[in-house]
Amino acid sequence: MNSETLEASLRQLVGGSNVLAGPPGGPALVVRPGTTEAVAECLKLFHGQQAPVVALGGLTGLVHGTHTPSHYFGISTERLNKFESFDPNTRLVVVGAGTKLVAVHDFAADHDLRYGVDLGARGSCTIGGNIATNAGGNSVIRFGMTRSNVVGLEVVLSDGSILTDLRGLPKNNAGYDLKQIFIGSEGTLGVVTKALLKLSRRPAGTASVALALNHLDSALVVMEAIERACGHTLLAMEIMWNRYFEKVSTALSAEPPPLPLGHPVYLLAQVEGMDSGEQAVDSLVGALEGIDDIIDSALATTPVQESGTVRNSVREAGFVIG
Ligand SMILES: Cc1cc2nc3c(=O)[nH]c(=O)nc-3n(C[C@H](O)[C@H](O)[C@H](O)COP(=O)(O)OP(=O)(O)OC[C@H]3O[C@@H](n4cnc5c(N)ncnc54)[C@H](O)[C@@H]3O)c2cc1C
Repeated sequence: MNSETLEASLRQLVGGSNVLAGPPGGPALVVRPGTTEAVAECLKLFHGQQAPVVALGGLTGLVHGTHTPSHYFGISTERLNKFESFDPNTRLVVVGAGTKLVAVHDFAADHDLRYGVDLGARGSCTIGGNIATNAGGNSVIRFGMTRSNVVGLEVVLSDGSILTDLRGLPKNNAGYDLKQIFIGSEGTLGVVTKALLKLSRRPAGTASVALALNHLDSALVVMEAIERACGHTLLAMEIMWNRYFEKVSTALSAEPPPLPLGHPVYLLAQVEGMDSGEQAVDSLVGALEGIDDIIDSALATTPVQESGTVRNSVREAGFVIG
C-alpha cells in the first residue's frame, strides 16, 4: 500500500476532517480518532503497513517525545476527551485520554473534590500525556506521581488489540498489575485511550509560607519540622537558591517578592486544612515555632495572598522536593 492509499484508508476510517497535517518537528500526517475502536482500527492499519506511529496529546512535553521524522504518522487523542462515568461514592472517574488536565480539575471542583496531579501545563496537557510521562507536578509530596492517582487504564496496543482494566478495585492482588508498565512508558507500548482516576476530598483551606534561610542545612531542619507537624497535610514544598528565587519572584512575576532578595536559601511550603483554613495556618505556624535558622518569613493565609508570588513560584516552577 503506498502512502496515498494509506491516507485514503485513514480518511475512510476516521473521516476526512480528522486527517490533518502534523505539528512542526513531528509526523507529517495526524489522525484524530474519536473512539477507542477507531484508534484500534488505525493502529491495525499502521501495523499492517509497518508504518511508524507516535501518540500525540497536548504537545507540552519538554523532552521532545512527540518529535519524529516526518514519515511517522501521528495519532492525536484530541477527540478522546469525554467524561465517561463518575461514581461519587468511590470518587472514581473514567475520562478519555485526550481530556485536558484542567478539565479534570474543573470536573472535580464541580463535585467538591479535587484531582491530585497539578502542573503548569494544566491548560494544555492531557491525561493520556500525563500518564505516558508519569508526570509529577507541584503536589507530589501529598499525592505522589501520576502513577499513584491512576486506578485503571484502557490501552490500544500497536497491533490494534485493546486492553481494558477500568474496574477500580482498590484491594486487588490478582496477578500482574499491567497498567503500571504503561504509566511512564512515553507511548512506546501502546496508546492510552481511557483512564480511571482517583479524586479526593478538597481541603477547606490552605496556607503557604515563604522562608529565608542561611544554609541548605537549615532548609532540611525546616522541612523535617513541617513534615513532622503537618504530616499528610503538607501539600507542596520547594527549596530554592537565591538566584533562582530572584528570577521567579521578579522576572516571572509582577508582584513584589514576598521576602527581601539576597538571602542564601529560600523555602516555600504549602499546607492544607481539611476542616478550616485556620487549621492550616495553625499547623504551619506551630511547626515553625522555635526554629532559630529562619531569617525571615512571609505567611500567606488567604487565597488572594497565596495566588501572589508565593503560590505562583510553587506552581510554575514544577520542581518539588518529594
Ligand atoms: C509549563 C509546564 C510545566 C510542566 N510541569 C511539569 C511538572 O511539574 N512535572 C512533570 O512531570 N512534568 C511537567 N511538565 C511536562 C509534562 O510531563 C507534560 O507537559 C505533560 O505530562 C505531557 O502531556 P501532553 O498531553 O502535553 O503530552 P505530549 O507532549 O503530547 O506527549 C508527551 C509524551 O507522551 C506520549 N503520549 C501522549 N499521549 C499519549 C497517550 N494517550 N497514550 C500514549 N502515549 C501518549 C507522547 O507520545 C509523548 O511521548 C511540564 C510542562 C510544561 C510545559
